[in-house]
Amino acid sequence: MRVIVVLAICLASLADGAAFAQVTLHHRLDVRIQPEAGRIEARDAVRLPEPLKQPRSLAFALSPDLRVTGAIEFDTGATAEASDQGAGRYRVAAPAGAAGFTVRYQGVIRHALEDVSDSPGKSQFQSRGHIGAEGVFLDGGARWYPRMGDERVTFDLNVDPPAGWLAVSQGEPFGEGGASGWRETHPQQEIYLVANRFHRYRQKTPEALAEVYLRHPDEALARNYLDATQRYLSLYSELIGPYPYAKFALVENFWETGYGMPSFTLLGPRVIRLPFIIHTAYPHEILHNWFGNGVYVDYSQGNWSEGLTSYLSDHLLRERRGKGA
Ligand SMILES: [Zn+2]
Repeated sequence: MRVIVVLAICLASLADGAAFAQVTLHHRLDVRIQPEAGRIEARDAVRLPEPLKQPRSLAFALSPDLRVTGAIEFDTGATAEASDQGAGRYRVAAPAGAAGFTVRYQGVIRHALEDVSDSPGKSQFQSRGHIGAEGVFLDGGARWYPRMGDERVTFDLNVDPPAGWLAVSQGEPFGEGGASGWRETHPQQEIYLVANRFHRYRQKTPEALAEVYLRHPDEALARNYLDATQRYLSLYSELIGPYPYAKFALVENFWETGYGMPSFTLLGPRVIRLPFIIHTAYPHEILHNWFGNGVYVDYSQGNWSEGLTSYLSDHLLRERRGKGA
């Protein structure tokens, strides 16, 4: 059974997108989530690669479910109203010398799961973004943060979820107590925000922090995954080179998925508990951090990462268990 797919996001090209292709923007996001209401309230300070040499109109896009509240503030001290172009697109006149701007926005993102099953009897669902009592799933396609085109992003993400909730994203955790902070300095294709009433388990390994996020406490299951994470990180670091991220987390989703993201995997409640997953799909997803989620794939040119990943996980591990490829 093939349960694992790498999440491929197709982005509609945005106005002025080409101007911000192949650059890296830094986001400093402060986000408040209210799952019951489906609400997100955010403040995003976006840093441009370099100060603007002359005044210029900047375009960015948000989910049409969100709306910008208040003026855009530039790091020069200037402010300007963003003009709403419809369908979540905005334009704002930026002054010369500006190297960053801050946007405040809020709204409700609560899309139902969509059935994308490709064969009868094999159900598969996906989400265009959901904030709800059962969980939060936001990816780049949900446009939950301002996107200027197909730029790369680094970020400091500070999430203030309700009591008892934890948020997960790429990269390294920071902050303790109620808030969930995540920092990623390697350019990413998008920013994920996943949250739930998670129970968190952690283990330091020589390569990275191993983490498990489960919706219900299960020490034995968490222990198995933490040990497996340590084992596979060590195996692949030795075989390929240093692991590119600060942590690797197994995260339990609120519907059945088999997604591999940079530095975490988002697996469905049933998938996580299938006994063979920890020996098959799980190392496969960890390995994708080198191929596919570390060095990225240009999907318009095919997918070079899948064969390599299958060979070094599924086939190599079978061979090591004495079963041959
Ligand atoms: Zn794969």
